[in-house]
Amino acid sequence: MAHVVEERCHLCRRCLAQRVCRIRAIMRIDEDETPVVDVHRCRGCLLCATECPYDAIVSV
Ligand code: SF4
Ligand code: SF4
Repeated sequence: MAHVVEERCHLCRRCLAQRVCRIRAIMRIDEDETPVVDVHRCRGCLLCATECPYDAIVSV
């Protein structure tokens, strides 16, 4: 599944990775927080990883 590496995340105003996930497995409380992948929803397609401009999403 996908995992957001907090140290690499640039806290983009609009998280492209979050937007591309159709099943909404990426959660974010507000712009000051790193998005989090919901382990129960994520299907491991890694589309989000290809969209993140900072390579902050990895496969775990
Ligand atoms: S696109 Fe990547 S770097 Fe930007 S907020 Fe989302 S996970 Fe973080
Ligand atoms: S790997 Fe696929 S299902 Fe999981 S968070 Fe990324 S886009 Fe969504």
